[in-house]
Amino acid sequence: MNLELTTAQQALKEEFITFVRTELEPYANDYDKQGAIPRSLIEKLGAAGYLGATIPTAYGGRGMDQVSYGLLNEEIGRACSSTRSLITVHSSLTAETILRWGSQEQKEQWLPLLASGQQLAAFGLSEPGAGSDTNGITTAYEEKDGQYVLTGVKKWITFSQIANLFLIAAQGDKGITTFLVPRDTPGLRVVPLEGILGTRASLLGEIHLEQCAVPAANILGRMGWGLQQIVNTALDNGRYSVACGSLGIARACLESSIQYSKQRHQSGRPIKEHQLIKQKITNMVTEVKAATLLCRNAGWLRDKKDPDSFIQTTLAKYHASRMANAVAAEAVQLHGALGCHDSFSIQRYFRDAKVMEIIEGSTEIQQILIADHSIASLSSIL
Ligand SMILES: Cc1cc2nc3c(=O)[nH]c(=O)nc-3n(C[C@H](O)[C@H](O)[C@H](O)COP(=O)(O)OP(=O)(O)OC[C@H]3O[C@@H](n4cnc5c(N)ncnc54)[C@H](O)[C@@H]3O)c2cc1C
Repeated sequence: MNLELTTAQQALKEEFITFVRTELEPYANDYDKQGAIPRSLIEKLGAAGYLGATIPTAYGGRGMDQVSYGLLNEEIGRACSSTRSLITVHSSLTAETILRWGSQEQKEQWLPLLASGQQLAAFGLSEPGAGSDTNGITTAYEEKDGQYVLTGVKKWITFSQIANLFLIAAQGDKGITTFLVPRDTPGLRVVPLEGILGTRASLLGEIHLEQCAVPAANILGRMGWGLQQIVNTALDNGRYSVACGSLGIARACLESSIQYSKQRHQSGRPIKEHQLIKQKITNMVTEVKAATLLCRNAGWLRDKKDPDSFIQTTLAKYHASRMANAVAAEAVQLHGALGCHDSFSIQRYFRDAKVMEIIEGSTEIQQILIADHSIASLSSIL
């Protein structure tokens, strides 16, 4: 395992840091309060190539390797988890899945539009009655006159309020199948969802499908491949993005905690000199370092197309999302009342971190995956 960044990866990291410092960090708290990221930011992300970071240049993407993509998610996630959410659902869950399983026609039709950010994509799996149990979805497809007619409701769909294309999983006589459904398909309606705890600017919604007809050419993969191939690929991609985004949240909390501990004085000295504050910083830094290694390891294996990259990505997501919660909670504590107030970013990181333990398979689902894999083949995970 080589965890050192190459010169090209280091240069990309510097580029991401500059973008985040100028375009994102100063505005992220406002986006959170407004409950939306602006179109101008999406245009800048598209122009920078960050909405098609891993898509090959032949389709208009930037053709980045997975380690670099991890760095992008980490740096964006360090400033704004809602913006990282856009990258997760648009690029990891949808565009990368089209790249892996799409027909040549689907790739040519959608990837240039998605990579440039001219069109946005969202991922429609969860439903009011089906979350972790993906087999339990009830959105249905039915073949009629050579078309597929979709009926059902998808819930909690990130950026569905503004997405142009939806990857929809549906049940039917040939098993769960995934469809590419453009927003303007008659019978498709998006109902905005408000009041979410974290990633508040990620424009969540419900997708209502009422007799929505799409041609057979819009099937992604094959009939019956919905869960095993398509959804599993998408969630594996998404977990990597969420793992690195979680790392970004924790780094932001750690960096802010160190800075605050130097400037905040109590009992006649900066709080950094209190032993219990030193303990907090030690624990945070150890956790952040461990998650960094797990994320880099997952990226490195993904670049090698190693079969173990799936479970190592799961491990990285499990650890990094839980770690982000622990570190964010300590950061709130260390900042005292300031950590509880919305004039400062720490409370946002604390709320955003919780979401990371629920999306792309909850902590409990990762525990099942990791335990089952370890019991079957411990040597391949260690
Ligand atoms: C901010 C946000 C954005 C989201 N964006 C999207 C999106 O873009 N697209 C999309 O399709 N979905 C999205 N989701 C939905 C998300 O994928 C689901 O919330 C997640 O899969 C969990 O499902 P659930 O909420 O129905 O919880 P449930 O599955 O009902 O689980 C409830 C609790 O039971 C636990 N549990 C469930 N099954 C088991 C089990 N077998 N063993 C042990 N414990 C179990 C869970 O871990 C959880 O703690 C989003 C959710 C949030 C919060």
